[in-house]
Amino acid sequence: MLDQTFQTPAPKVIAGAKHNWELVIGLEVHAQVSSNAKLFSGASTTFGAEPNSNVAFVDAGMPGMLPVINEECVAQAVRTGLGLKANINLLSAFDRKNYFYPDLPQGYQISQLYHPIVGEGEVFVEMDDGTARTVRIERIHLEQDAGKSVHDMDPNNSFVDLNRTGVALMEIVSRPDIRGPEEAAAYVTKLRQIMQYLGTCDGNMQNGSLRADVNVSVCRPGEYEKYQATQDFTHLGTRCEIKNMNSMRFMQAAIDFEARRQIAILEDGGIVNQETRLYDADKNETRSMRSKEEAHDYRYFPCPDLLPLEIEQDWVDELATKLPELPDAKKSRFMSSFNLSNYDAGVLTADTQNATYFEQVANGRDGKAAANWVINELFGRMKKEGVTVSYCPVSPDQLGSIIDLIANGEISGKIAKELFEIVYTEGGNPADIVSSRGMTQVTDTSAIEATVTQIIADNPIQVEKAKQNPKLAGWFVGQVIKATGGKANPQLVNQIVASKLSL
Ligand code: ADP
Ligand code: MG
Repeated sequence: MLDQTFQTPAPKVIAGAKHNWELVIGLEVHAQVSSNAKLFSGASTTFGAEPNSNVAFVDAGMPGMLPVINEECVAQAVRTGLGLKANINLLSAFDRKNYFYPDLPQGYQISQLYHPIVGEGEVFVEMDDGTARTVRIERIHLEQDAGKSVHDMDPNNSFVDLNRTGVALMEIVSRPDIRGPEEAAAYVTKLRQIMQYLGTCDGNMQNGSLRADVNVSVCRPGEYEKYQATQDFTHLGTRCEIKNMNSMRFMQAAIDFEARRQIAILEDGGIVNQETRLYDADKNETRSMRSKEEAHDYRYFPCPDLLPLEIEQDWVDELATKLPELPDAKKSRFMSSFNLSNYDAGVLTADTQNATYFEQVANGRDGKAAANWVINELFGRMKKEGVTVSYCPVSPDQLGSIIDLIANGEISGKIAKELFEIVYTEGGNPADIVSSRGMTQVTDTSAIEATVTQIIADNPIQVEKAKQNPKLAGWFVGQVIKATGGKANPQLVNQIVASKLSL
């Protein structure tokens, strides 16, 4: 944890017609495991392959085929658990969740209901306004993903693509600790960041690698505190579950809509039915998909094709020692080693590539200067071009030498920006560019003095004004720097202008 004290964010309060209401949210995040092969077959998991080309017989539910557990998927779930400071269960087991879907040819999904591989953990979530909350994780279990039914290719037929069938998913279940739409988005963002650091899920929401079922309820102020004290869910309202959100923006809109819908029902004297709902982004509303009453009895039972999963503590320990440095640790290290603010360290550690780039620039240099250059100039320029750091034409070494040239007094900050632009568009060694193009800062006192004397002589009215109001000396400094093409050392110019004007 970061050694800083954070205030807890206030719950989102929605004013109803009669009372105020607070939000309570718990998330079930489905994260696709990064692995070459599926959870129980050797078929490839490559995204965007020709339909039905990544399908083993067992994925297609062929009779007589048996699932074989993929060790790498288990390792990925354990790494994720360790990254969320969770208990790893050395004994877990797979269960069959029986239901029919055209894109699930087995007729059941293999999941872990009773004995998940990962138990309780936690995620530290910081909000944009500087507040933070620890969201508790209830469990993570491994399960198979389903395939994809395609209904819009033909007016009379539906198609099925089984490429995703049997790909490993981690279902990460949070406690209902989240208190507003922004917090929900910040929580998913942090989970995604941790998994990207770990390399256990690529976090691509557009491709469906990360999606969330969002449970929302509302309660009256004070009720949540009673729940927290006792963990007794009866103090909370009845929840609805919004399925399959794969956009942060829509997730927040769906939560907001759903809360208002429930408040309207409750204030009208009605009761909220526990049900599964779908969010319609075009209409910005949630619609009932199925209610708990008609909810299926999935007839879960231990999967007879798979032995319980036993793993060794030694193996878990070995995975733990090989974990990379995680976001919270990297962030606090950046703050202490490079003297960065919480905000800057957060921006620089948002992903590992940016963090690595920054560290290469900052090593052996002034951390704050490096952070300014990376965040303001480099990221700003990359954003304009729409590229990520792996496609950035300026290497950490090149940016580092630009910073060195400023630190050595060879170029001014203003020239450095021009130099950066040249290096960005044309490439080259910054020091060579400075000497070959005569960009060196003028630190020759007599040359600057001559320019100052000239400008003073040319502008008697400004001289009078500056004598009455010394702040106006800045105008002369600007003129001198302009006259030298930005190359005059600003500190020197300041001194000389002040002495010549005898301020
Ligand atoms: P189910 O078995 O019906 O899926 P779970 O106990 O697994 O129910 O809970 C599913 C999710 O619902 C969890 O993320 C949990 O935090 C969340 N949840 C439980 N109660 C509430 C509530 N009153 N309001 C919002 N979310 C809730
Ligand atoms: Mg559940």
